[in-house]
Amino acid sequence: MGKLLCAILATAAVVAAAPAWAVAPDAAQAPKVFLRQTEQVTARAHLIYKPNPTDPPFEGNVVVIEQTQGLVVVDAGGSPPSGEAAVAEIRKISRKPVRYLIYTHYHGDHNLGAGAFRAAWPGMIVVSTARTRENMTGAPMAYVAGYAKSYSDMADFAASQAADMKLPAAVRDGWARTAKAGPGMVAGYTGLTVYPADKTFTDRFSIPDAEAPIEVLFLGRGNTDGDAVVWAPRQRLLAAGDLVVAPIPYAAHTYPGEWIATLKKLEALDYAYLVPGHGPVMTDRTYVEKVIAALETVRAQVGPLARADVPLAEVRKRIDLAPMKASFTGDDPWLKVLIDAVFTGDLVSNAYKEARGEAVVQGKG
Ligand SMILES: [Zn+2]
Repeated sequence: MGKLLCAILATAAVVAAAPAWAVAPDAAQAPKVFLRQTEQVTARAHLIYKPNPTDPPFEGNVVVIEQTQGLVVVDAGGSPPSGEAAVAEIRKISRKPVRYLIYTHYHGDHNLGAGAFRAAWPGMIVVSTARTRENMTGAPMAYVAGYAKSYSDMADFAASQAADMKLPAAVRDGWARTAKAGPGMVAGYTGLTVYPADKTFTDRFSIPDAEAPIEVLFLGRGNTDGDAVVWAPRQRLLAAGDLVVAPIPYAAHTYPGEWIATLKKLEALDYAYLVPGHGPVMTDRTYVEKVIAALETVRAQVGPLARADVPLAEVRKRIDLAPMKASFTGDDPWLKVLIDAVFTGDLVSNAYKEARGEAVVQGKG
């Protein structure tokens, strides 16, 4: 969910309107904005999360699995202060060193905190799929250079929305929270370094252990072209990365049809705990089923129109996604803002491309 605020910004079409560095960074605010909390999931697994997942900054979950000789961590937080917060939480959980850091995918909200991990555990090995490494060393990661500026513009836009009395109170509140987090976010996203993986794999990477063996798996394309999931069969815990994001899925550069197939493979694993890329631990399959149903709904509505050469803008007018969207948002006005910005807008575009045999390109469009 790396570019979520940027997606909202693009949707609002205010990118060009904002002046340079509308909101200045405030480093003193960053530790508060990127604060983390820890929840024990099993005897050997913890989730380190950012409270209020639907408030910015949208930070990926960090999962810690304790093996006999050390720790395996899934994702690193999305900024240097976020990584520092995660490292501090890990030190409270165990004195064992982090031996492996696994990236679920390339989006920065899951890996731009890795510098703090490198400093804390110099012997640590970072693992990702080969595709994720290519993305992190290529054009898809280039957005990082403009990240702080994007968030500065975003916070400025948020302040204007928060003051717009034509908007419902709950939406203004959401924008007000975004604006308030702005200076700390801008500081956190300034001067970023990308840390690509040391070791890559294509289908499977095993980290054996007597108590908590781990399999890192590529199950197919979905959220990106190189998503890894982390499976701890003894704990029956699955870290799904942004293949599963709650309470609103994230669709930026997704492959709708393949995403469904990948989610079905994920569901076939005998998990008792599914840790999504964002949001709380799930103990059943209800939410994953809802995401699959949503993807099927969009493909079913968009596909025939796309193949009949109906222009995309017209397709958007003709389809009816209201019941599907309501299944995620309920009556929450802020979630209604988010779902168009991060899920349905891109999902319709991607389903349209898919139906017409056009490529979804990571980092573009
Ligand atoms: Zn994410």
